[in-house]
Amino acid sequence: MPAEQRRKRIVSGSQPTGTLHIGNYVGALKSWVGNQDQYECLFLVADMYAIKNPEAIDAAKLREKTLEFAALFLACGIDPNKSTIFIQSQVPAHAQLAWVLSCLTPLERLQRQVYESESGGGVSTGLLLLPVLLAADILLYDTGFVPIGEDQRQHVEFVSYIARRFNSLYAPLMKSPQPLIRKKGTLIMGLDDPTVKMSKSIGATRKGHMIGLLDSAGDIKNAIMSAATDPGNTISFKHSKAGVKNLLVLYEALSGMSRADIEKELKDKSYELLKKHLVDLVADTLRPIQQKYYQIRDNTDYLEAILATGAEHARKIADPRIEMIKGAVGFRTGAKNLD
Ligand code: AMP
Repeated sequence: MPAEQRRKRIVSGSQPTGTLHIGNYVGALKSWVGNQDQYECLFLVADMYAIKNPEAIDAAKLREKTLEFAALFLACGIDPNKSTIFIQSQVPAHAQLAWVLSCLTPLERLQRQVYESESGGGVSTGLLLLPVLLAADILLYDTGFVPIGEDQRQHVEFVSYIARRFNSLYAPLMKSPQPLIRKKGTLIMGLDDPTVKMSKSIGATRKGHMIGLLDSAGDIKNAIMSAATDPGNTISFKHSKAGVKNLLVLYEALSGMSRADIEKELKDKSYELLKKHLVDLVADTLRPIQQKYYQIRDNTDYLEAILATGAEHARKIADPRIEMIKGAVGFRTGAKNLD
């Protein structure tokens, strides 16, 4: 199909460790679902990232988590008839391109990328190389846009740098992707500490930090009702302090209401009432997702068939492209060589 008739392609994903949370939902999954008609979407369960700290996850757990994440993508509304959903390690070109890109990435440039070590036991070479693997995920699919949260802007800048460096060394095969920053509810902070972003790794060790997408109604209630707020009573997007602001941003993202309407509804009300409204809203949002999740997860054959079809489709895009890239760097390939 001529390029101008093709929808723009985007690639997104999540590493299958820990538990997907409400921040992932409003910051990523919800907009992925909304992108499906407008863009040609590839969603990957990024299992190759998960082994960067081998002590943190064993093989059986990773296999299980990979299916859990894929089922949650589907339950949140990713439609396999519209989008490609696949497991990263089932498309070997990701690892092949990551090697080529790691060879042209200066070590100091990598060290500047900020990465929190989840291991506590030192930084593995894999952890250091994560930005390169991310660059490979994106550049492999020749995509113009990467939908990301505000927290990931620096990664896209790094990808652009790698793309430029490849082009200047070899051949102009890499497009610099533009970040597609989501506007509403871009970043949800920890419920227990609104100065840090809600994260899967913190949530694994601190109860009350996050709301997992599979949490029970009781856990949702406990997490929200005990969320950190200040001693004041201001309910305003502009004037409230971080804890209340975080609850309001979540409320806005899930309700679809305007800020003015939310402030009107909660004018002169207590923080407790805001929290109660939010408990209902989160529970109403997650109930149908959880029902769909358990239906899908109980049917492993169905889930694996979707993932196999997804990987096959992804390989159809990735394989000819990696051949071209290999040819450009000087590897002799099965395809016509450049000389
Ligand atoms: P990760 O949890 O790092 O696998 O991220 C998966 C996706 O969720 C990425 O697109 C992130 O930008 C998004 N995300 C992660 N944490 C948050 C958060 N606290 N608020 C909003 N979006 C988030």
